[in-house]
Amino acid sequence: MLVGASQLDAGAQNDPPAQSGESKNSSKPALPLSEYEPKSMLHVRETHVPRSRFPSIDIHTHISVSKKSENGVALVPERQYLGTPQECLAVMDRKNIRAMVNLTGGYDQGLAEAVATYDKAHPGRFYTFTEPSYSKFKQSEYPKIQAEAIAEAHRDGARGLKILKTLGLYLRENTTSGTLVKIDDPRFDPMWDACGQLNMPVAIHVSDPIAFFTPTDRFNERYEELNNHPDWSFYGHDFPSNAELLAARNRVLARHPKTQFIVLHVGNFAEDLGNVSENLDRFPNMSVDIAARIGELGRQPRTARRFFDKHQDRILFGTDATPHGDEFPQQVFNDQLYEIYYRFLETDDEYFDYAPAKIPPQGRWRIYGIDLPEPILRKVYFENAARQLHLSA
Ligand SMILES: [Zn+2]
Repeated sequence: MLVGASQLDAGAQNDPPAQSGESKNSSKPALPLSEYEPKSMLHVRETHVPRSRFPSIDIHTHISVSKKSENGVALVPERQYLGTPQECLAVMDRKNIRAMVNLTGGYDQGLAEAVATYDKAHPGRFYTFTEPSYSKFKQSEYPKIQAEAIAEAHRDGARGLKILKTLGLYLRENTTSGTLVKIDDPRFDPMWDACGQLNMPVAIHVSDPIAFFTPTDRFNERYEELNNHPDWSFYGHDFPSNAELLAARNRVLARHPKTQFIVLHVGNFAEDLGNVSENLDRFPNMSVDIAARIGELGRQPRTARRFFDKHQDRILFGTDATPHGDEFPQQVFNDQLYEIYYRFLETDDEYFDYAPAKIPPQGRWRIYGIDLPEPILRKVYFENAARQLHLSA
């Protein structure tokens, strides 16, 4: 193509520097990646969305966690509380959040106490899920014990069951040692069935971002995140592949059609919405939340928008919010986090941060809003979760 002189000039900034400048520049040591904080020079609209357009239910939060864990396995029912009800309610009222679902409510006394402190003290604002008691896993009667524990948790007020990625990646035959237990291990069948019989949805986290299963090297798109948290890498050792984990999960979904599964983090394959969409088509008992994955959804806004259009009845609003979780800005429970989610869902703003952090914590990219229409927003913010939780209004 022929270009005029003026066009050549306009491109001069891309030309290699002159000899003298080059030697001067190359004597400077390179800026370490961890110190690089580029400011976008784009002039594009910035919409501030202080409140969700419709009341929301955050289906995925962690207000309490196990007091004792070992090698990724929670070992006691007792809870450590990360935020008081009052602290949570202040943010919820400002951000138009009707209810928070605390997924990690534990079991036995820990669960009963969490339900009393949050759900019963503030009706309609908090819902608590129970968790398996893996500390009893080695007992020969475990399948029966666990199914009965679900019924007891239901009586104690649990609204669903949460499965952490513990299952598939941490739980071992001797609980914290031995060979890994598979997600579709038949010893859990009575537990899945009990959830179906009691109308308790199963919020299940399986696998992790696909980059966590590849080497932490210069080709890894989450290099900095994995470098900061080496224990998040599931590359090598005796870990199954992401594909094996998802296949085992799918066998559970197929085997328990009467149990509802909320497959967290966009089915834990937000990098491949085609795969998630295919599984949603295959399994009528599957729905997904978007927690901690707007970084993925927002970097493929057109594909994401089509995904929301197609599966609008089975996508739930969730954030993975953790009070005082400052170490993980993509899930820290604060006003800014919710404002980013609302901006992503409600606007067509371009190229903005997916987490309240100086450096994008899950990978060096920015996101685009998907501008959902109101009927879909109502479903995603509230109606789809209300159906799963069996709320009347
Ligand atoms: Zn979570």
